[in-house]
Order: sequence, then structure tokens, then C-alpha cells
Amino acid sequence: MVSMAKPRLADVLARTGAEVLNDAESLDFYAHDIYARGADLEAVVRPADKYQLAAGIRAATDAGHAVIPRGGGMSYTGGYTANAAGAVMFDLAGMDRVLAVDPVSMTVTVEPGCRWAALRDALTPLGLRTPMWGTLSGLKATVGGGMSQNGMFWGSGRHGSAVQSCTALEVALADGTLMALGKNHTRPYGPDLAGLFLADTGALAIKTEITLRLVREAECHGYASFAFDTHAQWLDATAEIERRGIATECFGFDPYLNAIRMKRDSLATDAKQLIGMMRRQGGFLKGLKEGAKVVAAGRDFLKNANFSLHVLTEGRIQAAADADIAAARDVAQQFGGREVENTIPKIVRANPFGPLNSILGPDGERWAPIHGLISHGRAQPCFDSLLALFTEHAGRMEALGIHYGTLVAAVGGGGTLIEPCLYWPDARNPVIEATIEPAHLKKVPKLATNAPAWALAQELKSAIIAIFQAHDAAHFQIGRAYPYRETLDPRADALLLAIKREVDPRGLMNPGSLGL
Ligand SMILES: Cc1cc2nc3c(=O)[nH]c(=O)nc-3n(C[C@H](O)[C@H](O)[C@H](O)COP(=O)(O)OP(=O)(O)OC[C@H]3O[C@@H](n4cnc5c(N)ncnc54)[C@H](O)[C@@H]3O)c2cc1C
Repeated sequence: MVSMAKPRLADVLARTGAEVLNDAESLDFYAHDIYARGADLEAVVRPADKYQLAAGIRAATDAGHAVIPRGGGMSYTGGYTANAAGAVMFDLAGMDRVLAVDPVSMTVTVEPGCRWAALRDALTPLGLRTPMWGTLSGLKATVGGGMSQNGMFWGSGRHGSAVQSCTALEVALADGTLMALGKNHTRPYGPDLAGLFLADTGALAIKTEITLRLVREAECHGYASFAFDTHAQWLDATAEIERRGIATECFGFDPYLNAIRMKRDSLATDAKQLIGMMRRQGGFLKGLKEGAKVVAAGRDFLKNANFSLHVLTEGRIQAAADADIAAARDVAQQFGGREVENTIPKIVRANPFGPLNSILGPDGERWAPIHGLISHGRAQPCFDSLLALFTEHAGRMEALGIHYGTLVAAVGGGGTLIEPCLYWPDARNPVIEATIEPAHLKKVPKLATNAPAWALAQELKSAIIAIFQAHDAAHFQIGRAYPYRETLDPRADALLLAIKREVDPRGLMNPGSLGL
């Protein structure tokens, strides 16, 4: 009897027409996210379209391998790092086309690897954008990643989180079947089956096409910044601004993050970015004037600010944007805030998808943000519990050089996002090195592996998540970091498991993500 040799998996995958990587360096790179390394991968597939993707998934799962989707790779919660060796990763960065813009029905359909920055470049000339229009990581982060782990930033003060912009999806199941969900122009139509696959951190299926609602790009803008002495005032003002629906974006920094922010960018870059933006928005002279104002304000205006809050407003006419800024001033005053230079919101808006150099601290420290989306009513006690945690561990943190800084943001209709970021001295990984601009990376000290600091950072991360859970937080980016199934009604958990079995009977779709 003649025995046929089993074809190598890489060869089978390559027959789909997709690029296949299985050299040691690529496999090691793709095994990491920004935070940590997962188990060894068998291969990485880079499909050029959904047919190559579907065929690749089928080939991998037929051979018994788990499959894992990766968008821009800009996450730090283990959503795409493997639990066990042998998985095939699908890097969707090459599926990055804007497939259709429909300015009549106001929808846009993209491939999942389309980056938020590229989507903006495609829509801005048409005077259009999506309601939530990207995460700050949008230079590299993709629409597929945003729809798969949800998220917030641009537009979120008014329009809520990323997945709220989505109307329809097409997904590839674990057997390579393509399935369409939703109606392009509205969601939900009946029970929300498209919603079932949103924020799943790739545990149920791989998104192959995504349709988002469109809105008109804003014509007029307002900016204001405030300083507060106490975190209680700061959180009260954030909540009230969200309740009043004033801001398209509203975010704030605690003293540690204020200090980092002011250290980071050079004044010249700030002014240049601002001149560019103002020229686009209001002509050359306005640009020069605003650039000069930034230089005049210098970088010291937050020196005495404990907690800063930054508010951006938009309107069809300037009077509307200004009226919302006036309302924000009232709120700030009501809670004891004082107005400071509005340089930060202007700068951030001038370059909404800037380079991602902040993934290392200014002295080369590692960085890990841990967030909770909290009801306004629970934000104060939650923040107090976080402060108590950091006070309790202050001695150990100081001994190991660990710091923290906290960001807050208003999420329209969702509450207050609280995000402590940990900074600890430790070695960087290949994803971090590939993400930071080379010129910036050269300037940042390269630190050695530091097991005790890493261990305490992990311990603090778990304790922070436990505090968020105690305050009934919701989370974006659940991945393998945040609890989800534990929070479900047991009947709802059983339903989730039944759905998982239906779409992925052999448990090969990103096993472990979402706790599945
Ligand atoms: C500097 C920096 C700034 C950030 N700013 C923000 C911010 O402002 N707001 C915010 O919410 N987050 C932010 N993040 C976190 C993160 O970048 C975002 O959550 C982003 O949406 C991740 O997108 P991605 O394309 O990189 O996804 P990835 O990291 O590649 O993947 C994320 C998850 O989605 C899954 N996935 C990816 N594509 C698909 C697909 N097509 N189908 C199914 N599953 C898929 C992956 O398996 C994984 O579980 C930031 C991160 C960094 C590094």
C-alpha cells in the first residue's frame, strides 16, 4: 500500500493565494500583543481578500488548528494572543479597502483591516465621517479591531462607543462559511444578530466586511480646558458634561498624566500641527494666530493643575459650538474648576491619529492602561477605591519604580471611563518596538527585564480589575484580561455557550478569548 505524505500546513494555507509566514522571527513577533506574549503560533496568514481568508480558515480548522484574527495589533488585553501552541493567526492588515461609500443612504462599507486614519482620509474629502470615528490608536488600529473589542474616543462624548456606529456585518465562521448580518441602513432589525458578533473579541467569528453609519463632518468647533483641585470635582464635572450632552469629546488627566503630557511633545510640533488644522478649518491667518497662541501659552499652564479636563464641541454653526463651550464653562464653575489654556484639546484634535509613541513611558517604562466604564453614580466610590489600592501599595511601588496616572473620559450614554495606567521599568517587546516611530525609539532608554516589577504590575492590574468589578463596571477589549462570563446571569451564559457551539462546534475560533 502506498502511503501519501500529509501536505505541510503552510503549503495548504499558501494554496489559498494568501501570503503565509512561518519563519521564527515573524512567528515570535505575531505571538505578542503590546502587553505580553502568548503561546507559539504555527503560521501567520495574510489574506488579501475575504475569499482567501475564508479558504484559509477552512484549511486551518480542517487540519485541527485554532484560528486567531488580528487587526492592527494595537491591543494589550490578550485578545489575539494564543492560549495554546499551534494556532494559525490571520493578520487582516492587508484587507484594508474602503469598499463602498453611499452618501445618499449615509453608510460606508469597509474591509476589517481598514485603519481608522485611512477611513478618515477617504471620508473627509466628501464631508462625511462615522459617528464614533476612531480610537486614538487609529493610525494603526483597524475598524475590524474596533468592532471586535469595542472602544471609545473620537465622537464618543456624543455618539457613544465604536460598535454603536455599526449597522451590518459579514463574518467568516470557524468552518470558513461566510454569513451576512444586519441591514446596511439600520440596526437592529428584529433581534440584534449583528450585535451578537460585535465586541466578541474575535471569539465567535472573523469579520470580513463592516458597514457603518455616516454623519456629516462637523463644520464648526469649540475647545476648552479646565483645572480642578480634587478628583471629586473633576469626576462630577465629567459626569455632568456627559449628562448634558455638551461635548463630542471630554477627557481628563490626573496630575501624573498631566506631567507626562507636558513633557512629551515639543512646542514647535504643537504649533505646526495646529497651524495645519486651523488652515484646513478656517484659513491661513487663523492658523497662524492659533499657532502663535499655543507658543505664547507655553507648556506650563497645567503646572499647578491637579486634575485637568478637556472639552471639544462641534456644531453646524459656530454659535452652536460656542454655546456648548459656554455650557461646559458653567459646569466647570459649578464644580469649582477654573479655565486654563485650551492647548491640549486643540493639539489632540489637530492630529487625531498621531504616532503611537506613548506606549512607552518617557523614561522607557512599560505602560499598561486598565479601564472600567462606570455609571456616573459609582464613579466617585470606584475612584476612591483605586486611590486606596495605590496608597496601600505605595511603598512596594516606589521600591520597584512603579507609577500610575489616571485618565477619565465621558462616554455618551455610557457613563464615565476611568483608566489608570501603570508604568514600570521593564524590557520592551517586538510589537512595541515596531509601533513606536524609529526616531523616537532611539531617544527612549532601553530597559532590562525586571521580573519583580512585572509581577507587581500584574498584581496591581488584577486588583484594579477587581475594584472595577466591585463597582459594576463594563469593559471594552475584554479579550483574555477582563471578566465577562462571570458577570452574566447563568441562563445568559448558557445561551452564550450554545451560540459558541453553534458557530464554532470544535472550539477552534480564538479559544480562550471572551472566556470561551
Ligand atoms: C497608543 C494607544 C492608544 C489607544 N487608544 C485607544 C482609544 O482611544 N480608545 C480605545 O478604545 N482603545 C484605545 N487603544 C486600544 C486599542 O488600540 C483599540 O482597542 C483598538 O480598537 C484595537 O484595534 P486593532 O485593530 O489594533 O485590534 P487588534 O489589537 O488587532 O485586535 C483586537 C481584538 O479584536 C479581534 N479582532 C481584530 N480584528 C478582527 C476581525 N476582523 N474579526 C474578529 N475579531 C477581530 C482580535 O482577535 C482581538 O481580540 C489604544 C491603544 C494604544 C496602543
